[in-house]
Amino acid sequence: MANAKTCVFCRIVAGEIPSTIVYEDDEFIAFRDLNPVALTHVLIIPKRHIEALASLDDSDVKTLGKMVLIAPKIAAGDKLSGGYRLITNQGKDAGQLVDHLHWHVIGGNHLGKIG
Ligand code: AMP
Ligand code: ZN
Repeated sequence: MANAKTCVFCRIVAGEIPSTIVYEDDEFIAFRDLNPVALTHVLIIPKRHIEALASLDDSDVKTLGKMVLIAPKIAAGDKLSGGYRLITNQGKDAGQLVDHLHWHVIGGNHLGKIG
């Protein structure tokens, strides 16, 4: 199980691994995904290590709300006027690779339908 020393996203927050940061505030950063699946593929993460959606409880409602509201800012920055997708992968069945909560902001071209 990853902790703040080994977690790749914690290391990005610490500046130990380079990334292209497109947004930063006291609690969150957003940076471009290394393997984009669309023209825009940005990851929004909390600076503090939270494993996944399943680790959250009622005390995290404010954190989650703030985190989601960063997505429209990313979209505006990348001029995603045609729309975009905001997703998080929870657990192995969803293909979660990095055990540090993150939202994918994906857009910039037509996305296939999911669900
Ligand atoms: P997930 O499958 O939801 O856990 O997504 C993890 C995402 O992190 C994948 O889309 C990876 O391409 C991305 N990723 C992994 N390492 C890095 C990195 N060093 N910089 C940017 N994105 C990364
Ligand atoms: Zn982490």
